[in-house]
Amino acid sequence: MADRQPATKKDAPETRSSKLRIRIGYGWDSHEFKRGIPLRLGGVTLPHPRGLGGHSDGDVLLHAITDALLGAVAAPDIGTLFSPSDSRWKGADSAIFLAEALKRVREAGYALAKLDSTLILAMPKIAPHSAHIRARVAELLGLPADCVGVKGKTPEGMGTDDAAIAHAVVLLEKKISRG
Ligand code: MG
Repeated sequence: MADRQPATKKDAPETRSSKLRIRIGYGWDSHEFKRGIPLRLGGVTLPHPRGLGGHSDGDVLLHAITDALLGAVAAPDIGTLFSPSDSRWKGADSAIFLAEALKRVREAGYALAKLDSTLILAMPKIAPHSAHIRARVAELLGLPADCVGVKGKTPEGMGTDDAAIAHAVVLLEKKISRG
């Protein structure tokens, strides 16, 4: 698991990492499809007979983005910060996890500049919903929509038709210090 890190810039020692002008982060997640629950992807509820299981709302895309942001500032990962064994996160809106990751990015002295992501799932097709998902993810991240990439791929030959997988990459820029 990730090491415990100082939560604020004030507490953090000046390190080679904290002097970087830009940082990248990468996140990955997968969840299994289950009947009888809503399908949440990128903060949007999509019309589909099966949703994604998991302790929270199962939003695999927001989980991957959250881990990318946390990884970029070397913070603990999503499973460490929001333990699946903690009843507070049962059915939780994954936007809560994303907001905490963005807070840690700001506290580390960085701002999110760009996100790219890929969703891999057999059904439903993402293309008809991608504009809506991009707009919602952009809103949650406080980015213009043209700084948010959301691509849908089908898992041909991978045998993962009962799961949804998400990959996310973020680029952070160091905020200009005011004195
Ligand atoms: Mg997850």
